[in-house]
Amino acid sequence: MKLIDGKKISSEIKEEIAQEVHELLAKGGKKPHLAAILVGNDGGSETYVAHKVKACEQVGFDSTLIRFPDSVSEHELIEKIKEVNQNADIDGLIVQLPIPEHISEEKVIECIDPKKDVDGFHPANVGRMVAGMPAFVSATPNGILELLSRYQIETSGKHCVVIGRSNIVGRPMSILLSQKRTTGNATVTVCHSRTENLKEISKQADIVIAALGKPEFLTADMVKEGAVIIDVGTTRVKSDKTKSGWKLKGDVKFDEVAEKASYITPVPGGVGPMTIVSLLKNTLLAAQKKV
Ligand code: NAP
Repeated sequence: MKLIDGKKISSEIKEEIAQEVHELLAKGGKKPHLAAILVGNDGGSETYVAHKVKACEQVGFDSTLIRFPDSVSEHELIEKIKEVNQNADIDGLIVQLPIPEHISEEKVIECIDPKKDVDGFHPANVGRMVAGMPAFVSATPNGILELLSRYQIETSGKHCVVIGRSNIVGRPMSILLSQKRTTGNATVTVCHSRTENLKEISKQADIVIAALGKPEFLTADMVKEGAVIIDVGTTRVKSDKTKSGWKLKGDVKFDEVAEKASYITPVPGGVGPMTIVSLLKNTLLAAQKKV
């Protein structure tokens, strides 16, 4: 079994991005600039946004964190997004999800300028991605493709089983893997909460992408010998062994599945760090006006 080290690969990619920023500045360009909007103070969202801001600093980007209380109105939030859309100094904009229920996630996403939508959630970017056109691709699936590519894991002709069909992970992942592209050309099966006989399906997979958010869902009896296992899940579970009182659990029962897998990602340190570098890559593309 080989461990897929997302932390190491993400550090390498950050160095590559920092080098590109250096070259951009040497040519008289400006620093790429990411703005992040955070509504409320959910612990998980705070951590994710803090990591994103820190990663921007590490590669030489500018970043702006815009905070609103939970009580912010939809109108106020949308006005701020419109303001950022108009700000020529800001290249990329993300709104950290989830947002409070009284605000329409759809309206907020549709309001972001597609040319600044570095999360790749705007329908214009989703449509372009599906059509195989240049687009901002959702960060987590893009990061997984990068991991598969850097570990030279063949996807062409392989059977990939994606568990989960969310708009931000499972759905784009299944489309990208099935496309005629490098790190694609796979035969893809998408499973979800209504799938019957999931175990029989996952046992046929050469590559399993577990993205359902159910800790330790995928057990050894659900995978075949030699399968590649990508664990997207990050659920906070209570722990008396950590200072914070919680720890992150993946969707894969790591110890027993690792014994059968040819490659496997850990949680943490697998897919998570790749999500952040994909966001940085998209921001760089936005600054270079390449999408
Ligand atoms: P989500 O929107 O809740 O979607 C979960 C998907 O899993 C849904 O399609 C759901 O099916 C399916 N599902 C739920 N229970 C299932 C079951 N028992 N059997 C089969 N399918 C089941 O979640 P998400 O946003 O895609 O995130 C998934 C996980 O990835 C979460 O733990 C999240 O925290 C993590 N995540 C990690 C990163 C990272 O950077 N590491 C990034 C994004 C998300 P239905 O459609 O039928 O409801």
